[in-house]
Amino acid sequence: MSNTFDTKKIHAGYVSEKHNYSATVPIYQNVAFNLHDTARTEKILAGKIPDSYTYSRVANPTVDVFEKRINELDGGVGAVAVASGMAAITAAILNVAEGGGRIIAPLDIYGAALDEFRTLFPKFGIETDFVDNINDFETIEKLIKSDTKAIYAESVSNPITNVADVSGLASLAHSHNIPLVIDNTFPTPYLFNPIKYGADVVVYSSTKGINGHGNAVSGVIVDGGHFNWGQKKFPQFLEKEITLEQPGRKDTSFAGVFGKAAFIQRLRVKYLRLMGAVLSPFSAYLELLGLETISERINKEVNTSLKIAHFLEKNEHVEMVFNSGLLNTSQKELVEKYFPKGIGTIFSFQLKGTSKNVAKLLDNVKVFSYLPNVGDNRSLIVNPSEVTHREVPKDELIKENVTDNLIRLSIGLEDASDLISDLDQAIKIAFKE
Ligand SMILES: *Cc1c(COP(=O)(O)O)cnc(C)c1O
Repeated sequence: MSNTFDTKKIHAGYVSEKHNYSATVPIYQNVAFNLHDTARTEKILAGKIPDSYTYSRVANPTVDVFEKRINELDGGVGAVAVASGMAAITAAILNVAEGGGRIIAPLDIYGAALDEFRTLFPKFGIETDFVDNINDFETIEKLIKSDTKAIYAESVSNPITNVADVSGLASLAHSHNIPLVIDNTFPTPYLFNPIKYGADVVVYSSTKGINGHGNAVSGVIVDGGHFNWGQKKFPQFLEKEITLEQPGRKDTSFAGVFGKAAFIQRLRVKYLRLMGAVLSPFSAYLELLGLETISERINKEVNTSLKIAHFLEKNEHVEMVFNSGLLNTSQKELVEKYFPKGIGTIFSFQLKGTSKNVAKLLDNVKVFSYLPNVGDNRSLIVNPSEVTHREVPKDELIKENVTDNLIRLSIGLEDASDLISDLDQAIKIAFKE
């Protein structure tokens, strides 16, 4: 029997019999696990006892359920949870391109990710070729060089909600033997599963819609399990690995031992275990709790987002609404193909005014919270050019429509008409003489 999303979000990855029949996932707040005896220790370390634990930096039963659940919701071969979305992006990119190489990515990615690709990865020998439009396959194909290691994109971009043509990008990447890495934070696994459309690696800031309650920072990496990592372009998967040595085993490389799951296994052993950005069991518990209501939350929030977008489109002080879910852009076909349940709960709009009008609006909202986060049960509002995208050079921001008059909303579970009234009164004050 294969369950559907709403059953998996409650049950996947958890067997209560193994946890004293606890009905909900317990929090294993311990660091280490008794090895019991030396014979058992040997078996554990040889990977011969499934779901056995030694030390919580390597694996923890509460975190493990969260990883398994996300993996099942996304249809991967394995997942690793980490301390933040940025830790997920860092581990995924280093695991792909460690030792040097190039990545292709669009300019309109998450502000901190853009800063990392522009200023930090180069110090590790990883350069990025940026494109203005991730769906411009001709330009991307021309940028693919012999040392290009991956194409990276957000399924729905922040804050303009551009939708990436994931199947097209996957075909393009695979025709050059490189993987496609997708940041699927905005849609969450409920609205979109990139692996189904050919993505090889999916990263999440589960701080956002997966958690849904704004109470724990966390990240996850999911491995689609279709990419062949056993090729010379990715020597790290072909090298001998000391932790995989076993009597009688000849090929001790990650590709040799794990085959299609080489990526996620290596990420756990090298990047989780050694770099150590682990998710705490308590945070994993909060993520699991959030996941239980993800469909119900996001359905309502998508619905409210569209009502608010329609209200803004008609408002005399609004220049432009950026919400590809309105199906009024050239992206209509992509949205209909990939996002039948909606693109998400986050979108932006430009005021017919200046940063002064924006400031007045922000200072006068009463229901919306003014802060730099998304995917909360509370509705959130922010001015990206000043807050979330500070580290992005101005000329690039303007290219991405992140102008001084842009406002980003993340819609929560409050009543739609209260949210509309709140924006309405704040916009009126923002434009009062
Ligand atoms: C928030 C966010 C991140 C970073 O996640 P953290 O959990 O804050 O580290 C990465 N990508 C996107 C699209 C995000 O919204």
